[in-house]
Amino acid sequence: MTGNYRRIATEEAWAIPEQMEAMRRLSESGSTDPDFALWRVLLGDSVPSKTVMRRLLDVGPERLAGMDEQGVDMQLLLLTSPGPQMFDADAGAELATLANDRLAEAIRAHPTRFAGLAAIAPQDPWRAVREIERAMTRLRLNGIVVNSHIDGEYLDELKYWPILEAAAELEAPIYIHPRAPSRAMAQPYAKYHLEDAIWGFQAEAGLHGIRLIMSGVFDRYPKLRIVLGHMGEGIPYWLHRVDYMHRASAGSQMAADRGIEWRPKLKLRPSDYFRQNFLITTSGVNYSPVLEFCLRELGADNIMWAIDYPYQQAADATAFLDAAPIPDEDKHKIYHRNAERVFRIRSQFERPA
Ligand code: MN
Repeated sequence: MTGNYRRIATEEAWAIPEQMEAMRRLSESGSTDPDFALWRVLLGDSVPSKTVMRRLLDVGPERLAGMDEQGVDMQLLLLTSPGPQMFDADAGAELATLANDRLAEAIRAHPTRFAGLAAIAPQDPWRAVREIERAMTRLRLNGIVVNSHIDGEYLDELKYWPILEAAAELEAPIYIHPRAPSRAMAQPYAKYHLEDAIWGFQAEAGLHGIRLIMSGVFDRYPKLRIVLGHMGEGIPYWLHRVDYMHRASAGSQMAADRGIEWRPKLKLRPSDYFRQNFLITTSGVNYSPVLEFCLRELGADNIMWAIDYPYQQAADATAFLDAAPIPDEDKHKIYHRNAERVFRIRSQFERPA
């Protein structure tokens, strides 16, 4: 069936009013977190900001009408970045629980139109583990979203391994969604406001992916699946060089001479983990030369379609993939089959249980 695609968009943002109120309070308290470079604009009174805010908060008529108009069958919903990660551990965990309950409600109301990833507050790793278990079993959500760094830390740190273990055990893919670079990383990004989607998001989330690979967590948890947006946050372009430098420097005399703590030993090449344990989505990169490159590097089973609603437009994302000069079979995988497999979304041909 050429051109008749089921379209599942896999990085679609939503929000709850309590999250927005908490962000507003944090902003008014004078927080200098680099995420506020963008958030102070979003929380402002301009017409575009108010439109985005209204669309984030709606998981009903306006969102569904837009999906109908643009031929989008289903949205996979992610609590908008930075989710619960800017708040203290208790406030973050409570926000995550509340958001996940509401998300499950929205999915129950529209089971063929919405699926969703559970928010967690990794600030308290063991409480996050309990929320992952609740979200994947009782709420039957489709995976987890982590908005990249946790106050400057990354999921490869040992204290977060319980989260990775729970995700691997429950076959819950972890979508590492961008946020602004941490305070420690942010200073050179401040000039020209490079913290956000123009460069900082990608640099920071890409670093997160590379750190996970270098840490050896995928040897420990081979079933762990990580999803990166924005065509892989730059990593596909770098895989060849990462492999080369990793091989060239492993156990080298130079490293030994410098007396530095070297990298953990890995069973495979870095690029092997990227192909086995990661999937990427097309969010915000509606550009077929990059898609064709990623298809060649990663294969059609590792790429999923996404819009990044309401920050980006559905019309651009559908026009891009509809017209991309790639095999029709690959388009079916990218538009829906991979998402159905990875996020365990019922295929349109299955009967309801
Ligand atoms: Mn996004």
